[in-house]
Amino acid sequence: MYRDGANKSLWQAEIKKYSSMAELLNDSYDVVIIGAGITGVTSALNLQKQNRKCLLVESANIGFGTTGGTTAHLNNFFDATYSDVIKDFGLDNAKLLARGGNEAIDIIRQNINAYGIDCGFAEKTGYLFSLDEKQTKELDDIIEASNEAGVPMKEVQENPFPIPYDKIAEVPGQAQFHPIQYIRGLLDQYLAIGGKMIEECRALEVEKQEEELVVITTLGIVKCKNVIYATHIPPGKNVLHFRNAPYRSYALAVKLRNGIYPDALGYDLCEPYHYYRCQEVDGEQYLIAGGEDHKTGETENTEASFQKLEAYVLKYFDVSEIVYRWSSQYYEPVDGLPYIGQLPGNPDNVYVSTGYNGNGMIFGTLGAQILSDLIVHGESAYAQLFSPARVKPVAGFTSFVKENANVVKHLVMDKITVEKIQSLTELNDNEAKVVKYNGETMAVFKDARGRVHVLSHTCTHLGCNVVWNESELSWDCPCHGSRFGIDGEVLTAPAVKGLDKFSPEE
Ligand SMILES: Cc1cc2nc3c(=O)[nH]c(=O)nc-3n(C[C@H](O)[C@H](O)[C@H](O)COP(=O)(O)OP(=O)(O)OC[C@H]3O[C@@H](n4cnc5c(N)ncnc54)[C@H](O)[C@@H]3O)c2cc1C
Repeated sequence: MYRDGANKSLWQAEIKKYSSMAELLNDSYDVVIIGAGITGVTSALNLQKQNRKCLLVESANIGFGTTGGTTAHLNNFFDATYSDVIKDFGLDNAKLLARGGNEAIDIIRQNINAYGIDCGFAEKTGYLFSLDEKQTKELDDIIEASNEAGVPMKEVQENPFPIPYDKIAEVPGQAQFHPIQYIRGLLDQYLAIGGKMIEECRALEVEKQEEELVVITTLGIVKCKNVIYATHIPPGKNVLHFRNAPYRSYALAVKLRNGIYPDALGYDLCEPYHYYRCQEVDGEQYLIAGGEDHKTGETENTEASFQKLEAYVLKYFDVSEIVYRWSSQYYEPVDGLPYIGQLPGNPDNVYVSTGYNGNGMIFGTLGAQILSDLIVHGESAYAQLFSPARVKPVAGFTSFVKENANVVKHLVMDKITVEKIQSLTELNDNEAKVVKYNGETMAVFKDARGRVHVLSHTCTHLGCNVVWNESELSWDCPCHGSRFGIDGEVLTAPAVKGLDKFSPEE
């Protein structure tokens, strides 16, 4: 198992298993970093380089989470537009955000050069295009605000992507890479300078015992001075679960019949937006297209999202073959900006970096820099802007209410949308159902070989009800994004405990 879904991503073949030596837990560390995606691996290298003794703890393998399912555009403009950021956080903070975006791209470039990482990194120009009058008005605002924030953006006349547009703007200074080759390069360097890593080890809890932190894991306990949750969303019960909403996004990697692969990054302004870029992997060129995002667990019929994305791409591109299709999860923060710093409600030296929206290659890199600066120097220029303890009631209010109302709806309503069945033989192969059987509500899946997998329907995180995801073959929690495999094992945080299993014979 190399990624948290049944579909294979374009990057996945590069994921490699490292070792799982439980005896590493017997030592004590300056920093335990939990999660080996881009945030965790970058943090681990930053800190080990500064002579902090580090242990990287990963529940599955590197790139198992969204870093293995990303599309890896590297941008200095974000899903939270500069017009929104200026409105909600002020111009100075928008400029600081732009500085952070540029700094993250620089850090990635410097790492690639310093460690000779072969990961297809390339500088590109980005193009934002509107498709109708409403989007054009939005684009005009984006262009003006981006320039104010210090990210040059200007109207041009040609779209490198064969998609008709109303207005188009170019943004130089963007980039792209192969995300798994990149984090493997960082990890090799981290291990070479003495950093330690343990895979297939899930962190369950962190406790303060006298002056030390104790990380309780599935393989034992480990002591340290600082903990970083680089788990994309922190486990446990935390205020950040109510300030970040989980979403799924869909991606395709396709071959084009005419062999003309646009040399740029592209974005329309639809809601949700589509995003495009190309990359050569193993000598083959691909167009990567993404979009059709929806809130996690909003629908069982995730195949329909792939079909919509395919139809959209086939309409504009001369596709000869869809080689890869996959989906993955991201977290939308209620006020648009990530949460990076001390984790509220935890001891002082427990840190988190989360709430990246669709910009986690950049915010994961910047988050790693900020957390290393906080741990080593006690300060960072970005600490206040991204503080997880910030309260932005005005900026976040509407979406906060909307997302949380949605959570409550799922907690209550899902209890009654259950089918009654007399026998498990009523299920077809490859079919999943939430069923009531002998008074118990269960999540049941019959696989292609006719084996029945019977699980509790209640998420182990905060007790919401899980929803079937038919394309990734997982049970997804609409409330805070925990995901479980067909055998109940945790695929995606914040849950740390699998769904209870029942024997089909019983
Ligand atoms: C389809 C899609 C496309 C995207 N495209 C882009 C893009 O083009 N550009 C961009 O900048 N961003 C993009 N993003 C967002 C970006 O990919 C993510 O924000 C980023 O990968 C998150 O990295 P991470 O390291 O924080 O988390 P992850 O990569 O999810 O890593 C977290 C790790 O923690 C591990 N873990 C979880 N819980 C525990 C535990 N209790 N103990 C131990 N380990 C644990 C997991 O197994 C996982 O390996 C996209 C997101 C999606 C869904």
